[in-house]
Amino acid sequence: MDTGTFFVLIGVGSLMIILIFVTIFTRRDRPGSRKMVRSDILADELERHKRENYHVKAELKRINSMNNLFFASMIRLTARLNPEEIANETIGLLSNYLETNELAVFLYNEKGKRLNIVAERGIDDNLIPKIVYQLGEGKVGLTAEKRLPIGNREFEFFGTKKEPYVGFNPDICYPMVFQDKLFGVIAICRGGDFEEREKNLLGIVSTMTAVALNNTRSFESITFSASTDPLTKLFNIGYFKDRLEEELNRARRFQHSVTITIIDLDKFKDFNDSLGHQAGDQLLIKLAEIFKEHFEDTDIIARYGGDEFIVMCPEIKKQDTARIVGNLLHDLEMYDFAHGPFSNKVTFSAGVASFPDDGNSVPELIKSADEALYEAKGMGRNMVRIHYPKVEKI
Ligand code: GH3
Ligand code: MG
Repeated sequence: MDTGTFFVLIGVGSLMIILIFVTIFTRRDRPGSRKMVRSDILADELERHKRENYHVKAELKRINSMNNLFFASMIRLTARLNPEEIANETIGLLSNYLETNELAVFLYNEKGKRLNIVAERGIDDNLIPKIVYQLGEGKVGLTAEKRLPIGNREFEFFGTKKEPYVGFNPDICYPMVFQDKLFGVIAICRGGDFEEREKNLLGIVSTMTAVALNNTRSFESITFSASTDPLTKLFNIGYFKDRLEEELNRARRFQHSVTITIIDLDKFKDFNDSLGHQAGDQLLIKLAEIFKEHFEDTDIIARYGGDEFIVMCPEIKKQDTARIVGNLLHDLEMYDFAHGPFSNKVTFSAGVASFPDDGNSVPELIKSADEALYEAKGMGRNMVRIHYPKVEKI
């Protein structure tokens, strides 16, 4: 091969190599293949989004079920009508959502101005009854006094005071306040700070607990007014009849007696007329107090209406009841009810009847006691008469 041919061959070879490279590069740059690369990236991106979506969905689902759980707990909390049950519900709710070492719900005793534990988690059993705060004492007392959430920082800010109990040092306390009324304090120990989210939760739960506690008071006061005579604060006749009905059922089952007594003041109209209606009211109130002192706690005393009272004494014979009522009549002589020209002597007449001798039902018993009372009035008043069933003449 001559040199010319050799160079020609080299030239052709180099040209081919260049052509091959140009082909490869131009192919890569073709619009179709560029699309393929971009679609790969997009597919990757899509996959990543899908994965993220899946996590977000799972998180949303988790939050949703937590919310449902939270609302369910809230409904349970506000549906309760017993302070202890409410406090326990609050403890359960908070322990589901917060990391805590010790958790306690204190109720505020308005009379004694003290805060006592009614429900707790994690506190030493021996310590529970000892932990009682006065207003302003420790974080719990300070929270109640200021009606503000108090954490370690706020406690330092306000405080010259120290925690009174070595075994119980809460990190944060929330007041339970509703309509300006303090119901108690929620206290939590966990040896660490609380996030904003947790503080919001504590704020909501403490207010809802106060709402629930307020409901129990309204319920108590509704039940109280539904069963109480407004003037004397004795039970009213509706409540009395319900209780007598219950007692009669018990007496039928266990075969014991139940006695009722109807008491009617003598010449009460005259008392009113000479001393005024208000003095008459005061007399009825005073008599109610005396009656309550005189009878047993297990007896039920009610105002029948006007100047009449009715008393139920379970598991006692009518003769014994008549003796007790007779003593009461005698005792009344010691009281100076009225001042001034009117005689201060207050007397009453009473009729006693008992189950099963004088009646099998509430109306029958009341009728029998009424008959005995009528007899007492007819025989000159200031006396107790026992009802005796009339023997049918054959
Ligand atoms: P009696 O010995 O026959 O029972 O004579 P009485 O004057 O007590 O007559 P009665 O029991 O029939 O009358 C009851 C009176 O009690 C009638 C009414 O003026 C009075 N009264 C009823 N309710 C009240 C009340 O809430 N406050 C006052 N102050 N008086 C009442
Ligand atoms: Mg009377």
